[in-house]
Amino acid sequence: MALCIGLLVAAILPRAATPLPACLPFVPVFCTAVVVTESITALLMWVRYRMGKSPLDAALSAAYAFSSLTCAVQLLIFPGVFSPTGLLGAGKQTAVWVWVLWHGGFPAIVLIGFTLRRLAGKKAALRLPHARSLVWLALGASALGCLVAVRASDWLPALIRDGSYAALQHSPVTALVVFVSVAALIAQLVSGRLRTVLDIWLTIALLAFFADVVLTLAGSARYTIGWYGARGASMIASSALLAALLVEIAMLYSRLAKMNEDLEQKANRDALTGLYNRGWFDAAYAREHLSARHRASPLSVLMVDVDHFKQYNDAYGHGAGDVCLRLIADALQACLRRTDDAVCRYGGEEFVVLLPGCARDAAIAIGEAMRVAVRSLDIRARTQAKRVTVSIGAFTSDFGDEFAVDPLRAADENLYRAKAAGRDKVMASALPSIVPLASSAATVEG
Ligand code: GH3
Ligand code: MG
Ligand code: MG
Repeated sequence: MALCIGLLVAAILPRAATPLPACLPFVPVFCTAVVVTESITALLMWVRYRMGKSPLDAALSAAYAFSSLTCAVQLLIFPGVFSPTGLLGAGKQTAVWVWVLWHGGFPAIVLIGFTLRRLAGKKAALRLPHARSLVWLALGASALGCLVAVRASDWLPALIRDGSYAALQHSPVTALVVFVSVAALIAQLVSGRLRTVLDIWLTIALLAFFADVVLTLAGSARYTIGWYGARGASMIASSALLAALLVEIAMLYSRLAKMNEDLEQKANRDALTGLYNRGWFDAAYAREHLSARHRASPLSVLMVDVDHFKQYNDAYGHGAGDVCLRLIADALQACLRRTDDAVCRYGGEEFVVLLPGCARDAAIAIGEAMRVAVRSLDIRARTQAKRVTVSIGAFTSDFGDEFAVDPLRAADENLYRAKAAGRDKVMASALPSIVPLASSAATVEG
């Protein structure tokens, strides 16, 4: 981009003063584009300031707001756009003086931003009331400057005569405009050092801004090659930062989505075993319960509890207990086949298995596979069985059945029955107290 701007300036400079046909719609189209892009840039820079409180971001927001307002006034007062002499009672000198205000003010505010950043130190923040004041001051300066350019047009030094503003080249204000544009560019290169994407694009914007000043001066009259080329450079200056901000926003969106995914993962998973946690289970259970009722399909639940785990902890310590829980969690998980099935850590050394659409026999088979899988881990324990085992209570609600009960409660009761029956067992009976009809007690024992 810098090379393109350099080539553009080099190509235009030798013939900058060559007149071209006056394209009257050009000014309104150009000014509208600048006003819109710079307003959006000012707003986005303000949002950026609110996130990071950087003095430079606040100053850039102020600078783009200043530039946008001044360009809007330029559009209104430019001769031949809305009226032959321009609106708001503009005089002959008004447009060129508004240009001076615009091209001197923008880099001056950027310079203020660099100074504030330098004064505040690297990590220091600019307080909100100060940042707000900076933006209001910039807008106020634009309004006041434009008012002077309109009202005092006749008293200001004449910079334009018969469409030629050649006098501008020798005016001291021009030296000032050139000085602040070069100073802003050098300050950006020195302090920004092209470290971030935004630094790079701000440099491009300031370079294009300087090219705009050079080409305008070299054109020395409206509708010359230099004058048109300057407007092209000005478009780059006003949109370069916006492009960088939009890329930054797109990157922020994708990072936000990724962080959201990670957070959701962290919120739903148990830190020790990596299984779904109790919070996830509660929500999933409520969802599956409702869905099973609507579809009149079965829902099976297995409650799994490690046998005599307190003794294991007491014998080998909690570190070894944690390792054991992880191994058990993996073994239980490995017994699942369907994507809708889930093992969750219910709490402590208890797990719960949710099996939507799973019939009673299949649920008992999965429970039995889990019991065998944990036994096969062959983790030595000081229990009678001399290895770590689990007891499992299973229950299937068939919601076609009008006597359906809460499968979680029923599975929990069956777990107690498995413990009472001697542990290392899968117990899957319909509960006689809850299901009065056709309650066939089915006990599967290892
Ligand atoms: P039962 O067969 O009746 O279930 O006996 P139990 O010893 O397993 O049951 P109890 O409820 O008396 O003890 C559960 C133990 O599980 C107590 C606690 O030390 C252990 N425990 C619970 N959560 C964790 C954990 O995250 N890590 C470790 N290492 N141990 C845990
Ligand atoms: Mg236990
Ligand atoms: Mg327990």
